[in-house]
Amino acid sequence: MQTPLARVLGPKTATSMSEQLGLETVRDLLRHYPRRYARRGEQADLADVQVGDRVTVLAQVRSVTTRPMRNRRGSLTEVVVGDGSSRMKLVFFNHRHAQLKPDAWGMFAGTVGEWRGEKQFAHPDMHLLDSADDDTDWARALVPIYPASKDVSSWVIQKSLKLLLGATGGFGELVDDPLPEEIRARHGLLPLAAALLDIHRPTTMEDVERAASRLKWDEALVLQLTLAARRRAAALEPGIARPRRAGGLLDAVDAALPFALTEGQREVGEELAAELDRDQPMHRLLQGEVGSGKTVVALRAMAQVVDAGGQAALLAPTEVLAAQHARGIRQLLGPLGRAGELDGDPAGTRVTLLTGSLKAAAKRQALAEVADGSAGIVIGTHALLQQGVDFADLGLVVVDEQHRFGVEQRDALRAKGTRPPHVLVMTATPIPRTVAMTVYGDLETSTLRQLPSGRGGVSSSVVPAVEKPGWVDRAWARLREEVAAGRQAYVVCPRIGDLPGDEPEDADGAPPEEDGPRSDRRPPLAVLDVAELLRSGPLAGLRLDVLHGRMTPEEKDAAMRAFAAGETEVLVATTVVEVGVDVPNATVMVVMDADRFGVSQLHQLRGRVARGKHAGLCLLVTDAPTSSPTGQRLAAVAATSDGFELARLDLETRREGDVLGAAQSGTRSGIRLLSLLEDEELIATARAEATALLATDRGLADHPGLAAEVAALASDDRADWLEKA
Ligand code: ADP
Ligand code: MG
Repeated sequence: MQTPLARVLGPKTATSMSEQLGLETVRDLLRHYPRRYARRGEQADLADVQVGDRVTVLAQVRSVTTRPMRNRRGSLTEVVVGDGSSRMKLVFFNHRHAQLKPDAWGMFAGTVGEWRGEKQFAHPDMHLLDSADDDTDWARALVPIYPASKDVSSWVIQKSLKLLLGATGGFGELVDDPLPEEIRARHGLLPLAAALLDIHRPTTMEDVERAASRLKWDEALVLQLTLAARRRAAALEPGIARPRRAGGLLDAVDAALPFALTEGQREVGEELAAELDRDQPMHRLLQGEVGSGKTVVALRAMAQVVDAGGQAALLAPTEVLAAQHARGIRQLLGPLGRAGELDGDPAGTRVTLLTGSLKAAAKRQALAEVADGSAGIVIGTHALLQQGVDFADLGLVVVDEQHRFGVEQRDALRAKGTRPPHVLVMTATPIPRTVAMTVYGDLETSTLRQLPSGRGGVSSSVVPAVEKPGWVDRAWARLREEVAAGRQAYVVCPRIGDLPGDEPEDADGAPPEEDGPRSDRRPPLAVLDVAELLRSGPLAGLRLDVLHGRMTPEEKDAAMRAFAAGETEVLVATTVVEVGVDVPNATVMVVMDADRFGVSQLHQLRGRVARGKHAGLCLLVTDAPTSSPTGQRLAAVAATSDGFELARLDLETRREGDVLGAAQSGTRSGIRLLSLLEDEELIATARAEATALLATDRGLADHPGLAAEVAALASDDRADWLEKA
């Protein structure tokens, strides 16, 4: 399996396979599965191909005409392939191919072009299926179509695989099945060799399905073993117990809270309190709807750790958010958060803010407080991760809005404890169970499902600006009504503006480009332009300000403060307001060019206006037609406030690779067949099997094949996404 392809195939083919498809070994090639299967004699897939696609099609030749070219020497051959309903033209210059005759079957590959409104291939690569050929594959019912590249066509891959699989009888010996026999039998799975044969040379689609379900198992199990090993390793780490102590900061926090905790907050709180009390570090993911009150849960955990003599760090994704957390927590703690200051309570602690934009003197002081332990609660951004930030006794790391941080960053902060600290990761993006079991598979999960009662809730509507221009006026009128009633509003735009071609603030949840290439569309609306238009137009007379990522931290903080204090009535902003910003008096959000945002992002955004007792309103303004896929996606966002349902929708509209954080195709992530959307049950079963396999101290010692697969995943850059997710 580990034999380099260069020893089995021609050097040129092997080099191209390595460079263009990342296939190095026999194993890689065997695991390069067909993208789909074409069926000879069946209608060709021509109707589905799009101009610009690089595709391979299996089709039958209808007609061949050759004529001399008018302006040049040489001849032009036009070949029409396909069937009655969908056809495609192939164009060859000076081409002579004796076998290219009507009725011949062939595979044609190239980039689809267009000529006079008709799709065509100019100079396609082709491989004719010759019945005289000894190539019996062609006679099979299903022809595999592989992910191909410029120099490695689908049929070259097919031929190469045939070579590997061809040694009939011998192939089975070649392949070691890593899956323990007992697991295979229990789940009724094919042996590996049989599955590989069937996925590459199926006779029926049932063959393909059976093979795929076996091969998905390999992917799911190896992945879950990797994660289970991590959980196990983490569980064995020595940590420090931070037991709850009465009469300390935590009790003071509880006494100061202006509201009663929800049942969910209480339950999760108990869970955390118990885990902090153990001398194994906690690794927990807290997910909860936008506005479900995660911050207070985290604060209570931090207070417990401070009471036990340790320090707690809160890592926020933006300076705005870090500053807001610091402000909120200081306010809540009052004198207890100002120990060491004149009016502080010596029984309390210090709340220290550490961000990249601190002036030198302030930074020095913050660093000193962190290092000597007088800062019990340290709040900051990435700056916390830097060298030179040394904690006296870091007991708990809280990561807010995890999707902005990678595992590496979590680990960088963890490494700042003398012993591994407890870790709490909070995310407002509800995570489908499968993603929780994969991307966050090394964390235990708690969920806050309930919103604090007395919330007004948000109602959302789509405003189709092109179809119903009148609705846009109505949107501004609604905004004015709310402001007149004493409320505040956000207007969110995808871009900052002013600079030519500046990029969207946040490409995070960028929606798929289903409405055609971006270049065809007008540039996204920009904060600076929209603010100007609103000031002199529909929102004239209102106190309006802007907030975006190009402002200095001081400017941002000032803008946020003014808005929080109600001095600013309308804040025109980029997605910097997406995460965690908390101004309960804000009740309206107008999202411009809403189609430019991802589903989860929109859900996050509108969470900004459901935070007080007043009902919130979110208006999604878009040029997209109501009936387009984009329009429908927005309608779906408007129709439900169930974050879990939306997370699923988000998963559907994004590619798997994006979710897993892999920049490249599934090949790189080690996941080719497994679908996070469809294989939930399989992933859950594999997780249970993986946990069981690793339950004893022998680990994988009895399963060397599996151990090798796990090691391969870990050493491979394919595991990158595990780190970067
Ligand atoms: P998120 O989970 O989105 O981070 P926050 O922690 O920012 O939500 O909380 C949202 C708002 O709800 C804050 O203003 C917070 O003070 C308030 N809040 C939190 N818990 C409760 C509760 N139990 N009852 C009432 N309001 C609460
Ligand atoms: Mg939050």
